[in-house]
Amino acid sequence: MTGLPFPTVRGASPVPGGAAGSSPGTEGAPEGTVGLPDRFGRVARDLRVSVTDRCNLRCRYCMPAEGLPWLAKPEMLSDDELVRVVSVFVRLGVRQVRLTGGEPMLRRSLVDVVRRIAALEPRPRIAMTTNGVGLDRLAQPLADAGLDRVNVSLDTIDPQEFADLTRRDRLHDVEAGLKAAATAGLVPVKVNAVAMRGINDHSVTDLLQWCLDRGYELRFIEQMPLDAQHGWDASTMVSSQELHERLAERFRLTPLPREDRGSAPAERFLVDGGPATVGIIASVTAPFCAACDRTRLTADGQVRNCLFSQRETDLRGPMRDGASDDDLARLIQGEMWRKAPGHGIGTSDFVQPDRPMSAIGG
Ligand code: SAM
Ligand code: SF4
Repeated sequence: MTGLPFPTVRGASPVPGGAAGSSPGTEGAPEGTVGLPDRFGRVARDLRVSVTDRCNLRCRYCMPAEGLPWLAKPEMLSDDELVRVVSVFVRLGVRQVRLTGGEPMLRRSLVDVVRRIAALEPRPRIAMTTNGVGLDRLAQPLADAGLDRVNVSLDTIDPQEFADLTRRDRLHDVEAGLKAAATAGLVPVKVNAVAMRGINDHSVTDLLQWCLDRGYELRFIEQMPLDAQHGWDASTMVSSQELHERLAERFRLTPLPREDRGSAPAERFLVDGGPATVGIIASVTAPFCAACDRTRLTADGQVRNCLFSQRETDLRGPMRDGASDDDLARLIQGEMWRKAPGHGIGTSDFVQPDRPMSAIGG
């Protein structure tokens, strides 16, 4: 892999399944496009890669109890294909790669994939979002391979609530995983939580206290319409405002100045004067689409410019039919060029995407 800047892509040749045209907003990005801009002035720098669609938990806001029809192995990108596509993204200006899924640690080659991404130039920051089951064994090998940061999803520290919400009795594994992440130096260890009404919404202050006691940085995220059953309902979602009110009953929350947020979506608060903080991500009620710098690659090689996008651009087919890196870059640029200004949740024409969060990569 060279450290040379990626060449400006000029009218790449048509490739199977590709978008080689150049009319803005319809097909490809205009000729001469550099990097990953869209029509609204945003530039993608943060790539979320789903390395598998499989999972060992069944969180109610994400998956049905019986699981999903998993991708067959030949449908998934191989390690070589995955690292190649990531390298094209990196040359197009991506500076952070977040590995996710499904449960990323279920991909057997994950440590090797991390090592290979860490060898790209310029080296992107490498993060992972995980449910933490098995992290006690993998935290150190992943850190040694080049993983920089980890977000562990944990919605409650009440064993019964955890089992209700994830439909699995694995709370102890997640706790062990969090400890191992801290020991491996993947700090600050971040915890992501979703509050579900009637399941864990009454214990959010206990979760915050538990994280404060252990030095983990907690962030709540509003539940989004990305469940496999399409059962989301705005009236049952626990909003960021409601979360704030619940947390404020027990803790003194001081908002951090807005400019500290940058393009990071979490509104952060000092807890009881700090230095510990808690974040609340109002992805539904106050979306951060205008500052979004994200793009996504699914486990079967589709680029999505947004979690809520209704279409994807296939890279796997063209790649297997002999597309060059320039061809792939052009396809990726075209997908980014089509990015909508916002997700539109709550508007009359909003349509929930067919794929759930676990298949897109959260
Ligand atoms: N399995 C890993 C995990 O749970 O961290 C990675 C994949 S999971 C899809 C990534 C993140 O998406 C998790 O933090 C999870 O809580 C979140 N998530 C899943 N479905 C969601 C939904 N409907 N609304 C908001 N967040 C969701
Ligand atoms: Fe699995 Fe993560 Fe979805 Fe939970 S949120 S079911 S852990 S993919």
